[in-house]
Amino acid sequence: YVQVKDLKKHYGDGDARLTVLDGIDTSINRGEICVMLGPSGSGKSTFLNLIGGLEDADAGSILVDGCDLTVLKPTDLGEYRRRELGFVFQFYNLVPDLTIKENIEVTAHLSKKPLNIDDLLRSLGLYEHRNKFPRQVSGGQQQRCAIGRALVKNPGLLLCDEPTGALDYKTSKEILQLMEDVNRTYGCTIIIVTHNAAIARMANRVLRLRDGRIVEDELNESPVAAAELDW
Ligand code: ATP
Ligand code: MG
Repeated sequence: YVQVKDLKKHYGDGDARLTVLDGIDTSINRGEICVMLGPSGSGKSTFLNLIGGLEDADAGSILVDGCDLTVLKPTDLGEYRRRELGFVFQFYNLVPDLTIKENIEVTAHLSKKPLNIDDLLRSLGLYEHRNKFPRQVSGGQQQRCAIGRALVKNPGLLLCDEPTGALDYKTSKEILQLMEDVNRTYGCTIIIVTHNAAIARMANRVLRLRDGRIVEDELNESPVAAAELDW
């Protein structure tokens, strides 16, 4: 479903040139939960941003559902991002002047097959908070809202950059269970970037990134339920 071939990306030039992705190859099947691990600065967010069409690659190809993002026209890339993709950022990026429900609603219309917003709010445990503003709810609830905003489109691909990075242990596990539910219920493919190795145990596929290369790409035949994770 996602095929990445010899993907390269650098920042800066001359003495400041930094190669971040130095030839990444991997293939992620439809419906998989894929966890990418790697130390800080190893290029995890860069990788996700490239798959999300937020940045341009230097070389290589990224095929999503057979369509190569690296050669798409800007309008088609925009269409891909709107229709196919859900993106969960590390720090929520909610709109402060919109309520929890409105933050989720804003992306629903982008989809031809949006989920029912009230049902989604209930499954996120946000229904009773739907008319509050982001500052009036907890960090975990804000992250649930950010996930809801990504999910309401019913995306084929959900990209999550450190989705639990700012959350405590209990809330992190709730968020991971929610992702597992979403994966089961809607069959969307999920890529989670994290430096928490424990999260990799719930994945079908684990990618380990080091110095711009994938040093491990392993299938996990018996993923652990998110509720059973411990760290
Ligand atoms: P973390 O776990 O800390 O989030 P990461 O694995 O996500 O790290 P990236 O954010 O992908 O790492 O960054 C990889 C490298 O590229 C880092 O050294 C970073 O400083 C550099 N970098 C990232 N974005 C830019 C940019 N826009 N301009 C210049 N350098 C950048
Ligand atoms: Mg990062």
